[in-house]
Amino acid sequence: MRIGCPKEVKPQEFRVGITPNAAREAIAHGHEVLIETGAGVGSGFDDDVYVETGARIIAAADEIFASADMIVKVKEPQPTERKMLRRDQLLFTYLHLAPDPDQTHDLLASGCTAVAYETVTDREGGLPLLAPMSEVAGRLAPQVGAWALQKANGGRGVLMGGVPGVGPARVIVIGGGVVGTHAARIAAGMGAEVTVLDRSLNRLRYLDDVFGHDFNTGYSTAGLMAELLPQADMVIGAVLIPGAAAPKLVTRAQLSTMKPGAVLVDVAIDQGGCFETSRATTHGDPIYEVDGIMHYCVANMPGAVARTSTIALGNATLPFMLALADKGWKKACADDPHLLAGLNVHDGQLTYAAVGEALGLGV
Ligand code: NAD
Repeated sequence: MRIGCPKEVKPQEFRVGITPNAAREAIAHGHEVLIETGAGVGSGFDDDVYVETGARIIAAADEIFASADMIVKVKEPQPTERKMLRRDQLLFTYLHLAPDPDQTHDLLASGCTAVAYETVTDREGGLPLLAPMSEVAGRLAPQVGAWALQKANGGRGVLMGGVPGVGPARVIVIGGGVVGTHAARIAAGMGAEVTVLDRSLNRLRYLDDVFGHDFNTGYSTAGLMAELLPQADMVIGAVLIPGAAAPKLVTRAQLSTMKPGAVLVDVAIDQGGCFETSRATTHGDPIYEVDGIMHYCVANMPGAVARTSTIALGNATLPFMLALADKGWKKACADDPHLLAGLNVHDGQLTYAAVGEALGLGV
């Protein structure tokens, strides 16, 4: 199969769909790999690195769309890219169709077959192609929060780990899923005193079993939140209610109960945010202040560490990309129900029920 990887065109996107290691493996499986010139530069992979793997560098995206059997990307295809998709072409990337009727319409009109990273499942009921980005965002959250806590950035001027004779920062992590667990591990590793709150007792049991006394756990109620907020230096929002907007767990009125210069990091901002005062920010201008409290609410946090994110995503997508290329999408999806769960669009039809329901379209 001929596999094509165009350079991402969405603003502020530095990741690339195929890493050099993935290209090497696909070529070893007998496939041809086309990479648009400069596609990997934002992640630290020059064209030369791809050439060494045996991939071909192509000057323009339209040549790739015109000749590849499968297009592998990171972000949903942008309008210019959608125009180039062809019937019988396979698209493998993040799509997030439910809130995006324009993209859905264009994909249906193109006749392509589209497998969405975000709906591929695993045996444990998880989402293996979303998890790496949650891991990245979770580990990044205490790092950006610690930066915002510095005096020059508007924060309280508190060091995460303290020093001998001075206590550490107190960090609350709301939501102990993938993001929250990774955030708590890093915050605790920096020496902060960490409490993780969740509504799932099973999740709290798991965290307690695995991490012991590295951090405290608490059952997430409005009462406990009100009790903990006045002592917190940093609150990391990492909740998810699948298919719903994030619940608002810290109100504007509660900001006045917090220490001036404390920091809120709202990782759940891509689901609307879990603090009442959250609004999406960008890497260029990531923090703002409300009532003396600093807010960091970047909706695409993994983009800040594009190289790590590209490699993490590439590790997760590789087996699926190889299965699609080796067997063709029909056999690959027939053999693997988890890959089949990723199929969103085929030959002008929506094939994913939740997207059809969200957009009022037939499936
Ligand atoms: P997850 O499903 O693994 O974990 C979510 C956790 O929230 C679950 O354990 C759930 O029990 C818990 N929860 C639900 N309601 C709660 C409440 N009221 N109080 C406390 N906990 C509650 O999800 P995840 O992969 O960790 O993702 C978390 C959020 O981070 C999602 O909104 C996701 O979209 C977002 N995210 C954002 C970025 C970014 O760049 N900003 C990147 C990756 C993920």
